[in-house]
This record gives sequence, structure tokens and C-alpha cells, in this order.
Amino acid sequence: MVDRTPAVTFGEDQEISKPTTVYIWDMDETLILLKSLLDGTYAGVFNGMKDTKKGFEIGKHWENHILRVCDEFFFYEVIENYNEPYLDALSEYDDGRDLSNYDFSNDGFSSPYDDANKRKLAYRHRSIAEKYSQGLHKVLDQQMIKLWNDLYSLTDSYTGGWLSSAHALLEQTLAKTKPSASDHSSEMTPRSIITKDQSINVLVTSGSLVPSLAKCLLYRLDDVISANNVYSSWEVGKLQCFSWIKERFGSPNVRFCVIGDGTEECAAAETMRWPFIKIDIRPASPYRFPGLTMEMVQSYIDVIYGPQDSKDEKMKG
Ligand SMILES: [Mg+2]
Repeated sequence: MVDRTPAVTFGEDQEISKPTTVYIWDMDETLILLKSLLDGTYAGVFNGMKDTKKGFEIGKHWENHILRVCDEFFFYEVIENYNEPYLDALSEYDDGRDLSNYDFSNDGFSSPYDDANKRKLAYRHRSIAEKYSQGLHKVLDQQMIKLWNDLYSLTDSYTGGWLSSAHALLEQTLAKTKPSASDHSSEMTPRSIITKDQSINVLVTSGSLVPSLAKCLLYRLDDVISANNVYSSWEVGKLQCFSWIKERFGSPNVRFCVIGDGTEECAAAETMRWPFIKIDIRPASPYRFPGLTMEMVQSYIDVIYGPQDSKDEKMKG
């Protein structure tokens, strides 16, 4: 599991000066494959070497799991018409009330979408964030966990390791943040931590928010992307989400990088003057999974921002 505790701070000056890279990932046909399995695009690029029907069936199974998690744990039947762009969007309405005995099924959440109902939705968002941080193993029964594990393995093998290699790359981005094994020794000094780069993974997806959170859990991205770093561009568009992300994380030492397969994120990244890496599902492309590496991502970042002056890297070399 990835340590989600905030980066160690040794006073504000060091924290501000710490180089940070914010990776902004698209979900569908980037970190995961779903639509291209359902519509046969994924199998199609393999010129008959992949079983299209099998891909379709895999996609259907995922859809069922996603809906089930949405409905059983994320109040989806009640809140699906109230999509917000991110979980914290209603935090101003949340009075922080203890929800451990709150009766979600009888609080009368409905239209109109006034302040009282926004508070009830904010409670649900907080509950969703809590469940997300606990993970699906806490809530699914053994039979469901087995079905889910089998489906993940089947999908990963059908796609030549797309899911697991995308996950591995996200893990690598975060590994840059964490102190290396040697840093755990008694020699550890504050300086050895504050010279490390910090990395943040953010997801911006055109899907609606709650199903996207369910997908992150089911596709096992919850240990590399936290719930409050998931954005739905469904109504607001990717450019608006990117602007919010810039406002939230932006500082002189922060670099951004967008990775996705769509024209919308490409155009939005261009407007923001951020590097953009276009995912291409065709098997000969290196910009896919497996294929994309940290070195490739870094080279795109260096083109826009210039090579990073990293003492760590020089020492390793
Ligand atoms: Mg996409």
C-alpha cells in the first residue's frame, strides 16, 4: 500500500521549494481499457489476433461490477442526477457532523437542490471518501472478491498486462516521493527528505464522478490516486478541471504533465502549456501499456520545463 500521509514538512520555506510534479491522468483507454473492449476497438487493432467477443464479455462484466459498487456502497441510485466535479466540491455545506449512526436511507435527500439537500449530498460525498480510503476488501464478501480478482487477472492477461503495467507506472511516480530504503536508517536527516521530488497523481475523467471512483477502486488505482484527486469533467470540461488543478497545486516549483488518449485533454494541455503524452492503443506504439516508462514521461516534461537539476540523479549515475 502506498503511504498516503502528507509529505514531511520542515518549515514552510522548504516545503514551498520542494520540486513537485503533478501527473494528470485520463482514465478510459489510458489507465484502464473499457470502452475499447466493449466496442471492439481494442481487439480491432490486433488484426484478428484478439478475440473480440471475449473482450466484449470482459467489458460487460466490468460494467456490472461498477454499477454494483455504485449502487451498494455509493448511494448511486439516489445521487446519480447530482454529479459534482469532485468530492470536495460541496465541503462548504458539510458541517462535519458525525456520520457513524447517520441514516442515509431516511434523511429525505431529494430535489430541489437547495442548501439542505446539498448538505445531505456533502455527507454522502464524505462517506464515499471514507469508504474509498478503506478499500473494497472491507465491504465486498469473499465470493465477490474472488470474482473481482479473477476478472482483473483475466483482463490483465487479455490485454497483455495493460492494467498492471499502468498501475506500476503510477507506483513509480510515487516512489520518487518516498524516501528510499537507505533513508530509513538512523542516518536519515531532514535534508535527505526535502531534496526529494514530490509527485502527485490526479485523475481527470469525462465519466461522472461516483462511477469513476468505483472504477478506481475496482481497477485497483485507489492506492496510487486518492479520492480527492479524482475529477469528473462531465459537465465542466477538461480545461476547467485543469484550471482548478493549477489553482490547487500551482507554485513556481510545480510541473504538470497530462497523459491521455483524447483530443479534449490534448487541447486543454496545450492551452495550459503543459506537456501532453498521447496514449495510442495500437500494439506497435510505445505510448501504451505496457510500454510507457518513467523515462519517456520525464523526457516530455523536460522538453517543456527544461531538465530538472537533480543531485539525487547525478549521485546515482
Ligand atoms: Mg480516454
